[in-house]
Amino acid sequence: MRCIQDVREMREACRTARREGKTLGFVPTMGGLHAGHASLIERACRECDAAAISLFVNPTQFGPGEDYGSYPRTWEEDLRLARSLGVDLVFHPDVAEMYPKGFSTHVEVERLAAGLCGRHRPGHFRGVATVVLKLFAVVRPHRAYFGEKDYQQLVLIRRMVEDLSLEVEVVGCPIVRDPDGLALSSRNAYLNAEERRRALALHRGLGRARSLLAAGERRAAALEAAAREELEREGLRVDYASVVHPDTLEPLERVEAPARMAVAAWVGRARLIDNCPLDPPQG
Ligand code: AMP
Repeated sequence: MRCIQDVREMREACRTARREGKTLGFVPTMGGLHAGHASLIERACRECDAAAISLFVNPTQFGPGEDYGSYPRTWEEDLRLARSLGVDLVFHPDVAEMYPKGFSTHVEVERLAAGLCGRHRPGHFRGVATVVLKLFAVVRPHRAYFGEKDYQQLVLIRRMVEDLSLEVEVVGCPIVRDPDGLALSSRNAYLNAEERRRALALHRGLGRARSLLAAGERRAAALEAAAREELEREGLRVDYASVVHPDTLEPLERVEAPARMAVAAWVGRARLIDNCPLDPPQG
């Protein structure tokens, strides 16, 4: 496994792999790796001849006062895990390498970035789209793996790839959870035992909405209220609990076809997100 910090060197290493006729899989991450990341990396290793990951805490996707400074940075452990999973190339640039002096180009994915997390984190998805496009330009992967955990991000990256005619297949991967249902997240490291227990309300809230739907409730407002109640019962500060169209992310009034439910809430200093499909019962 090679760990590379330099853009030109990474581009060269990826080009070499492609020239050798290998399919190249890529998993962009901000490090703080856990079993959720590992599931994406394992899949990239399984489905491609060569696998690259990036470890880069991207400053431009954090707003002022957010947790850029305190975000988990566990490079040594991340590299050990990557090696054990069979990763070939790790790209670990510093901020100046990614954003040299004078950097002034940004990617805006309109509409999809407006709602859900975009409303509460202005500029976040502009930072995400820009860094992902840049990483794609360096690595030029055949396939790139993204988790459904960050559902809005996944939809937005698919849109960007389509709109800009990028030659990469975006592969969405299921959410990995702890046995009790908590979605794995690097930010779970911020939680103490009590907060971790309360954070289970996110998964429970989604579950309640799904049960209501299964019992025949189609009104989005009722499903949202049920999820919100679950979160607020545990004292979580809710950013949103929303039923949206799975592709456009537009808010829905009723669930008559497959939809998505997404929640975001604060537990102590951790802002956590989760989501699930809402499939209305047939008949
Ligand atoms: P991050 O390091 O948080 O930027 O995440 C890197 C990638 O891992 C993103 O595509 C995430 O959606 C994905 N990811 C993070 N947590 C999970 C999880 N619990 N299950 C599946 N994928 C995840």
